[in-house]
Amino acid sequence: MAVALVFVSSGCSWIDLIKDELDNSDVVEAGQNAVRRQAGNENSAQAGNDNRNELEKVLDQTREDELARSIQMQQERTRDLQMQREIFDLLEDPNGRFSITFWNNSNIDEKKIILTEFLAEVQQIMGTSVKKEIEFFRENSGLRAKYTTQKRLRINEYQFISNFWDKIRLWDFDGDYDYFNVLIHEVRHAYQIEAVYNLSENKHIVSDETLFCWERNFPPNYVEYEIDPQSYFAQPIEWDAFNFSKSYKYLNGITPVYEGSWIK
Ligand SMILES: [Zn+2]
Repeated sequence: MAVALVFVSSGCSWIDLIKDELDNSDVVEAGQNAVRRQAGNENSAQAGNDNRNELEKVLDQTREDELARSIQMQQERTRDLQMQREIFDLLEDPNGRFSITFWNNSNIDEKKIILTEFLAEVQQIMGTSVKKEIEFFRENSGLRAKYTTQKRLRINEYQFISNFWDKIRLWDFDGDYDYFNVLIHEVRHAYQIEAVYNLSENKHIVSDETLFCWERNFPPNYVEYEIDPQSYFAQPIEWDAFNFSKSYKYLNGITPVYEGSWIK
């Protein structure tokens, strides 16, 4: 689940999406009706009064399953957008410690501290349990970050070293402020793993369908970028992590295997 690319934060209007999600009263009401109907059916069945034929029972069950699925997806989506908004509010505060101005005026050691502080903030919002200390390494390659099975975030500091001539040698260097997006992307992988394997003390709000798709995508079914870039971006856990970190430009032209809560 490494990120081997340069990310650029996009100005996509996700606030509009959040507005759409705030009014989900129809879904909640539909869910309450389904619960009432189910309770009614059970009571009738117990009393021997269930006059539905087998086909009607199957159809009712199918409708209830579909409704339950829809409610779960709505809850997942609302939660994802809420976390995303809280995280990006931190970045978009022009006078904040995570602003681009502050970052660009910081040296490499200060940048490491800033990213470590940002990790703590992101974890507070997402309820994840990645180890607090980031492991920085320096490697002249496109590998930017990786989340390890030891719950450790590793970041290649090579692209924010201060030596201009080192930077200019990199094939795709276009700024290092997007390391924040990289960090968010990797913590999202931690969130996925914790949700699927129920590892967090905090209950992550993820639908059964998404949990199924994520779990099925974990190794050995994970596709590395070097093997097939299209499949890399299209696979459920990468599609999700790129969307969550607002690294949209890498998803242009990619047809996802599963969109999760990021359906437009
Ligand atoms: Zn990834």
